[in-house]
Amino acid sequence: MRALVFDGKLHLRTDYPDPVPVSGESIVKVSVAGICGTDLEITRGYMEYRGVPGHEFVGRVMQSENLALVGKRVAGEINTSCGTCNWCIDGMGRHCPTRTVLGILGRDGAFAEYLRLPNANLIAIPDAVADESAVFAEPFAAACEILEQASLKRTDRIAILGDGRLGAMVALALNGENFAPVVAGHHPEKLQRLAALGLRTELADKLAPGYDVVIDCTGQSAGFTRAIALVRPRGTVILKSTAAAGAAMNLAPVVINEITIIGSRCGRFTPAIAALAAGRFDPRPLIDGTFSLDDGVAAFAAAADKSKFKIVVRP
Ligand SMILES: [Zn+2]
Ligand SMILES: [Zn+2]
Repeated sequence: MRALVFDGKLHLRTDYPDPVPVSGESIVKVSVAGICGTDLEITRGYMEYRGVPGHEFVGRVMQSENLALVGKRVAGEINTSCGTCNWCIDGMGRHCPTRTVLGILGRDGAFAEYLRLPNANLIAIPDAVADESAVFAEPFAAACEILEQASLKRTDRIAILGDGRLGAMVALALNGENFAPVVAGHHPEKLQRLAALGLRTELADKLAPGYDVVIDCTGQSAGFTRAIALVRPRGTVILKSTAAAGAAMNLAPVVINEITIIGSRCGRFTPAIAALAAGRFDPRPLIDGTFSLDDGVAAFAAAADKSKFKIVVRP
């Protein structure tokens, strides 16, 4: 099959082996796959991943022992888990120590004609949700994870740092649940587009300290320091970025101001897909380019352009 492969360098292969059927897992033909910051990080060495990247997708089940799945349009939870360890038994399979993660850790991903995932990971997409919306299920689920981890109040003053893909997703997720975050960034034209989606926006330099909650979606280690500076004493900082570069950071303000720090990664798909189906927001205006898989390398270059939100690839 055709697949975009990272082996130290990103390139298209036309002779990549098809995924082999295994018991308990289904073969999915990819319809649309989205490029996110994590994919770009992978091409810079994140997780030392080798193989087919891509974890945001919608596709159709071609082959499965679970006949109810065959032919279904699906998105897929990206973490696979053993189901038997203490984490899994406690319902935290996304933290299973022996997990694989689609296109990120030990499992080929979505920038290919076909992928394979456990049957239990696949979630049917309602007809009302177009492929171009469903492809946002994964980043939207990750955004919604904040709502499960932090007990936010509707009256909280919430700042989201970063006007990129991740910041936009988090802002739309919170806005859809009637919180009123302000999204802050350095790109006036992107802030304008987010404002057109009904979001409150502000230039990053204009934010004044005192927020109850600051969510770092900058994808840069400097975002953490900025978040700590903007949150009020006893406030909460939520870290959504997985910036690959480590940096020396001063944690004294965390102690002095008694700040709570929450790390936040992946979320559950079912509520995210339900929100998409209910039309609580439409992510499609965030798509800035659609590329063929054959032009996957160019698609990655386009996604690295900071003026763009989401680039999607169609096999
Ligand atoms: Zn992602
Ligand atoms: Zn486990």
